[in-house]
Amino acid sequence: MSLIRRLNKKLNKMFNGSVHAQEENGCVKLTGSLDCWEDIVKAGYTAVNKNKFIGVLNDIEYTKQDIPQMRMPSVNDLKYDKIHTDVAVIGAGIIGSAIARELTRYDIKVMLIDKEHDVGMHASSRNDGEIHPGIDLLKGQVKQKYNSRGNVMYDQICKDLDVRFSRPGQYLCFIKKYYKLIFSIARLYWKAMGIPTEYMNADKLRKKIPGISNAINGGIYFPTAGIVSPYELVIAYAENAVDNSAVIALDTAVTGMEISNNKIVSLKTNRGIIYPKVVINAAGVYSDKIASMANDRFFTIHARKGTNAIFDKKI
Ligand SMILES: Cc1cc2nc3c(=O)[nH]c(=O)nc-3n(C[C@H](O)[C@H](O)[C@H](O)COP(=O)(O)OP(=O)(O)OC[C@H]3O[C@@H](n4cnc5c(N)ncnc54)[C@H](O)[C@@H]3O)c2cc1C
Repeated sequence: MSLIRRLNKKLNKMFNGSVHAQEENGCVKLTGSLDCWEDIVKAGYTAVNKNKFIGVLNDIEYTKQDIPQMRMPSVNDLKYDKIHTDVAVIGAGIIGSAIARELTRYDIKVMLIDKEHDVGMHASSRNDGEIHPGIDLLKGQVKQKYNSRGNVMYDQICKDLDVRFSRPGQYLCFIKKYYKLIFSIARLYWKAMGIPTEYMNADKLRKKIPGISNAINGGIYFPTAGIVSPYELVIAYAENAVDNSAVIALDTAVTGMEISNNKIVSLKTNRGIIYPKVVINAAGVYSDKIASMANDRFFTIHARKGTNAIFDKKI
């Protein structure tokens, strides 16, 4: 039975025939309709086959309510019309701002574009600020490779950009005593991934973290876990990029592209048409829309909304 037939059989069973899979340009494309967002996400995960398909195009319609459209800036002018640049970076979150700064090391014109009124107005300023040691990642994953490379870079980057950064470490504690054995095996795995660990008994943990529950019997300490103010870092990256000659176009939404011979000729925005030689897609949860504008549609993103409450008054 072909992969797609097998997948359709599985999806039929899961969603009573409401979802259909087919192959399109080397991707799995899902169509149909569902009234539960989590089910749409679940169907997407079910269709993943990294060895056989480039990606999943999850086009299942959500029937319960309208999905909010991307918020557009209120300005409409020609401030950036007919501007030519070597590189246009779409999205001034942590990724786009860091890339723009890095590119200003070269003698090229860099333009950092964001639809919001400031940099870092999305996930990049609304996260936990943890510089992860990468304990939940798997050896060989691309994310694991870049996480471990990125983690060690933070001391120098934050020093260069004058951003507060510390490594208070991360603790993985256990209540049930047999976890000591499980964790000793897991430590071998972390060691193989280059993640330093230290076993701590309950007494040592209590000295390190006063107030920890009496039920805790031990845990693993990961000294490479760090903490940074996410918005300070994004602003520092973007400011340094501007100091080094990058142009920041705020309140500027990329709404379309002119494509010719499979190449991006220009970006349509609410502030005019921009002509870049190279475009970098750093649009976060909207990066599937940007890829699609360039006829490079091989993935879809189904974002989820949540709330992060910060109790630390020092932050
Ligand atoms: C609650 C929460 C906690 C997290 N905690 C951590 C953590 O502790 N540690 C960690 O490493 N990661 C954490 N993350 C993940 C991290 O925040 C994200 O991976 C990261 O911020 C993504 O950055 P980005 O630059 O790719 O995207 P974003 O910050 O989303 O930036 C994308 C930018 O693109 C712009 N844009 C989009 N479309 C367009 C368009 N058409 N035209 C112009 N501009 C456009 C947007 O306005 C936005 O500013 C957390 C995430 C969440 C939600």
